[in-house]
Amino acid sequence: MVPAVISKAKVASQCATCRKGSFLEVGQEIVGGQLKWFERFSCVCGHGFETGGVGLPSPGIRKSILTQSGRAEVWVDDAQAVPKVLVLLVKGLGMPEAEATRRLAKLPAVAFEGTHVEAEFITRALQQGSVVARVVNHLP
Ligand SMILES: [Zn+2]
Repeated sequence: MVPAVISKAKVASQCATCRKGSFLEVGQEIVGGQLKWFERFSCVCGHGFETGGVGLPSPGIRKSILTQSGRAEVWVDDAQAVPKVLVLLVKGLGMPEAEATRRLAKLPAVAFEGTHVEAEFITRALQQGSVVARVVNHLP
């Protein structure tokens, strides 16, 4: 059983219906092997909504999650793993090839930096390709 990984943050917001100040809850989780993000709002007046999607959240949401939930690094030590890691970074995450190559030029290397959930997602994808990566978590 894989433990549920979730990264969350609270963003100050105002209710669209009653104008009362409240908080938007934003976060990321891994559901059914997919990296997902969500935004939830609920007010005492009854107004509320929930939205979300697959992939990375908007830069603003992502920044709030990094600030409030902490960041993580995915480290790669094994030179034999580099080709597989490159493919994941470039084809899987859309990282420019030059940047991915530069990151992995000298080992051990930080292949990726992001939220805890993103790091966990990447580590699992690497494990499926038999690549062992280390995640270093930093608290906010
Ligand atoms: Zn309200």
